Amino acid sequence: MDTARNKHTYELVEAEELWSMATVDSEAYICHGCPTQVFPASFDKGRNKKRPYFTLGPVNKHVDCDIDGQEKIVKRGKKERVGTAEGFPLPFPNKLTLTDERPAQADGNGLPAGLAEGLPRSRGEKNGEGRRRHHGHTVKTIRSMCRTFINFPKDREFLPLEIPGVPGNTYARVFSYLSGSKKQELLEAPTRLFYAAIRWTVDPVISETHCELTLHAGEWDQEKGAHKLLCRLRVNWSDWSRSRRDTLIREFEATREEAREDAKKSKLAKGWIFFVGSQDALDPSLFHADNRRLICCLSGEMIWPARK
Ligand SMILES: [Zn+2]
Repeated sequence: MDTARNKHTYELVEAEELWSMATVDSEAYICHGCPTQVFPASFDKGRNKKRPYFTLGPVNKHVDCDIDGQEKIVKRGKKERVGTAEGFPLPFPNKLTLTDERPAQADGNGLPAGLAEGLPRSRGEKNGEGRRRHHGHTVKTIRSMCRTFINFPKDREFLPLEIPGVPGNTYARVFSYLSGSKKQELLEAPTRLFYAAIRWTVDPVISETHCELTLHAGEWDQEKGAHKLLCRLRVNWSDWSRSRRDTLIREFEATREEAREDAKKSKLAKGWIFFVGSQDALDPSLFHADNRRLICCLSGEMIWPARK
């Protein structure tokens, strides 16, 4: 599992957040969808090369929980639309907030509305499939929406999504692909949620003020069989703490590692970088981002539904 809940606050915690914790409390987490205890794993910076995750351990079992069937739904989601007019079979983010405030109104669980999403509800609410239907919740980082984007290609045009300052109101319209072949031109709306494959043979270029990550995007030269110019993401991190900088590089490196492994199993698998950022006003191949919560790297199969 890539997300769990803090059992004291009920807030969602992404496994990657374990990287930046000074100490990890192994007892503090429960499942995203039920009250079962889960355990953080692979978070030791010194020993583990892989990305952290949460696990049930050898004994624990989900109780009346949507997350239990998640893998099956993700598998199905690669081939067909899994959402319906009644809702989506798994919890998914539909809104990004950049404030630290919790949503104000409480629902029947006595929890703020956004935090209650995905918690077990009464059986009477289940539909004929024996599954709950979800309508979206608010998140503070883009990572879980990027996972939803990768996992459910056929649902992208139906799932609502809202990011302040970014055009579009569905997953399909909010995410902007920086392709590996197109000449980059200055965009009319320069601030977007961009994504591109990572150029995994190029190391990050690091300085005190920023780090530059090379993207597998930019104009392709047919004759030479190579890119004319590769796009770059410049992360302006002069006011970031050391630990925040380290976790970005760690996530980038872990994704490169995962992509190498995944590529052996599937040709479509690559390492991807997602960021809410802006295209440079003068150089169309340069992009800027400065908020750690709005940058993430994930490995996986990227499927694009055929254009109608
Ligand atoms: Zn569960």
